[in-house]
Amino acid sequence: MAEPVVSLRNVHKAFNLGRPNETEVLHGIDLTLLRGEFCAVMGPSGSGKSTLLNIVGLLDRPSSGSLCIAGAETSTLDEHALTRLRGHNIGFVFQYHNLLAGFSALENVMMPMLGDAGFFKEPMVQRADMLLDSVGLARWRDSRVTELSGGQQQRVAVARSLAMDPPLLLADEPTGNLDTQAADAVFELLRKVNLARGMAILFVTHNPALAGRCDRTIRVVDGRLQA
Ligand code: ADP
Repeated sequence: MAEPVVSLRNVHKAFNLGRPNETEVLHGIDLTLLRGEFCAVMGPSGSGKSTLLNIVGLLDRPSSGSLCIAGAETSTLDEHALTRLRGHNIGFVFQYHNLLAGFSALENVMMPMLGDAGFFKEPMVQRADMLLDSVGLARWRDSRVTELSGGQQQRVAVARSLAMDPPLLLADEPTGNLDTQAADAVFELLRKVNLARGMAILFVTHNPALAGRCDRTIRVVDGRLQA
């Protein structure tokens, strides 16, 4: 059986802990995502999908419960260890791609590889070129990302998310801002990397047709996973 890349056990998340406005947003989430699984995340606005992705992405911590990423239990890790774990295991694609506007497509793809090096080395350039080629954007390598269309920018963001060849990709409404054709192209690209590299993907979407093309769908409703 494939090994779990993500494992949450009874995860709760409350904001403003100890204050009068304390609110619990996630109420005991159990979730296992296996290597290679492409899982859609659906649910109404405000139900806790982004909070869940932020926790799985190690951008925020659970208030209680257990979270394992790539086999590592995270509750005892300090910020430095979490950053390392995130950098090596998790790629992110956001709705608003968060590319760096002043840089080329190639430089944006190389950013996660920069690490402690502080400058770009030849193997990084080769890898970024290969990734841009794999998302069909080789000829745009030197263009500033602001010169690209929304769909192309999102494909650069997908290439960037693959820079460290992570076993897990978190995609928070990556097609939400695109027209149908561009959304379909980005979805197909995610499917392609999912199949080719065996990476697990959590894909937040409001589009039932796209969710139907994933391996499974989980629904977040009022901070709980609906069976
Ligand atoms: P979704 O992604 O499903 O739209 P979110 O995870 O963004 O839902 O939000 C779930 C709930 O958590 C909302 O009621 C939101 O207002 C609340 N929330 C999110 N982030 C914070 C925060 N930093 N502080 C307080 N409440 C928050």
